[in-house]
Formats: sequence, structure tokens, C-alpha cells
Amino acid sequence: MREAPTTNEARHVEPGLSAAAGTDVGRHRRANEDSYLAQFPVYIVADGMGGHDAGDVASAAVVRAFSGLVGRDDVRPDEVATAVHRAHLTVTALSDRTRRGAGSTLTGVVQVRHEGEPYWLVVNVGDSRVYRVVGTRFERLTIDHSYLQEQLDAGLLTQDEAEDFEHKNVITRAVGAPDSPADYWVRPVEPGERLLICSDGLHGEVPDDALLEVLAAYPDPASAVERLIDLALEHGGHDNVTAVVVDVEAPPAGRLSDAPPAGRLSEANGDGDPAEDPAPDSA
Ligand code: MG
Repeated sequence: MREAPTTNEARHVEPGLSAAAGTDVGRHRRANEDSYLAQFPVYIVADGMGGHDAGDVASAAVVRAFSGLVGRDDVRPDEVATAVHRAHLTVTALSDRTRRGAGSTLTGVVQVRHEGEPYWLVVNVGDSRVYRVVGTRFERLTIDHSYLQEQLDAGLLTQDEAEDFEHKNVITRAVGAPDSPADYWVRPVEPGERLLICSDGLHGEVPDDALLEVLAAYPDPASAVERLIDLALEHGGHDNVTAVVVDVEAPPAGRLSDAPPAGRLSEANGDGDPAEDPAPDSA
């Protein structure tokens, strides 16, 4: 049974940016343990674990750790790392208080400033994902911290075999778990690009080509979010599903993009390995 539609419950428009977000409990779970924040300059999704009264509290705590950044256009990369650290401490304390433990994924983008220019700081812990589409190009910006990804990286599993892998939802890093540094990447904010931030209730249910199809077919972010969530439910809705879509306004026709190049911001955090293109973890 589907809960009342909750798409479009967050919609925030900044000059040059528009975004929409939505979440649904899915068709099998009793509670929605996903949380999100989609207010400039923070667009993140957290997928909580720990069952009743723990998973939803964990993911809400992760999102809350970023609330102090909302509404600012001068966020520094190290402030994002501080928010991640704060989330980690809060969820670790929560986990210590619960019998089964608690944890959460965290993924998304925060628009930061570096030498006056806007950049996306992409952050990831766990197996929620950030995708990007610009023109016909569709790419994933994050690398899952999962047992499945490790098997793929080690060459022990092919992409085809991954479909039926039985330990698909075992993650190897989580906010609130030990030895779980965040990965960070820095990217320029590019006119005309669209970002999708989602929990595994979407990307684990709907194949990438179908995600791209929806992102290309629905120019309005709220309509895209609604269609993506419907699609996850049509595919079974086995998990909570959350999607955030962020659009960067395209430049006026004829004007070339003057976006700065992608690169490393070494001061973002020493934990991750920021790079222009995500490289598989060697962990
Ligand atoms: Mg999930």
C-alpha cells in the first residue's frame, strides 16, 4: 500500500538552480528510514539502518548535521567535512544506545566556494548514489561502499552476475560505523547539468538506462522526482525510495560555458581521495 505521495515536499529555487525532492516508504517496509535535505546549497540523501526507532532517527540526525549550512552561498569545503564528522558522532552515540545498533548512508552534493567560484562538493558514505546528466552524457559520481562493489573491483564478479548477487545490500562503510571515512570529489557547477541523488530503493530497483530515460523526458524537477519514485514502486518498491533532482540553469543560447575546470580541493578533507573522476576504492 502506498503512502500519500510525498514528492515535491521540498522545493527550493535559487537563482540559477532549481530542485525537487521526494520520498516514499515503498510497498514492503512499514517505516521510512530514508531522510533528505534539498535546500540550497545542500542536496543530500541519508538511508538509515537499525530498524524501528533507530534507522529513521539515524538518517534524520545525518541530515540535521547539515542544517546549519542551509541558505549560505559561502560554504567552505572544510565545513562540509565538519558536518560529516558531526553526523558521525551523533549516529555513533545513537548506535551505542540501541540494541541492534544504528547507522546511515550519506550521499549528495553541497555547493561550496573556492576562490570565489562555485563548485559541487560530492560526498559519499555507503551505497546511496549521485548521478549526473548533461546532454546525452549520463554518469555516476559516487562509488558504492558495498560488498558487491568490492567483489566487482576484485574481478570476482561480472556486472551481469551482480544483478543476482545475494548480498547486494551489505555496505562496507556507514555513518556511525567505525573505519568509515567519507569519499569526496570536487566538480565545477556546469550550466545545463542535472544531478540525481537517490537511495538504493531507487537505483537498486530501476536500471540506469530507465533512470536516464526519465531524467531526459521530464524537464521539470518535481515531475522527474515523482516519475522516478513511481517507477521504483512499479518495479516492486522493496525498499524506501528517495530522490532529489537538482538542475543548473542552462546558459543563454550562444554563450559558452565559463565554468572552471574540475579538480582537487586538497583542503576538503584528508579522509577521502578527491579526484576528478571517481576511482574504485582499494579498501
Ligand atoms: Mg535503502
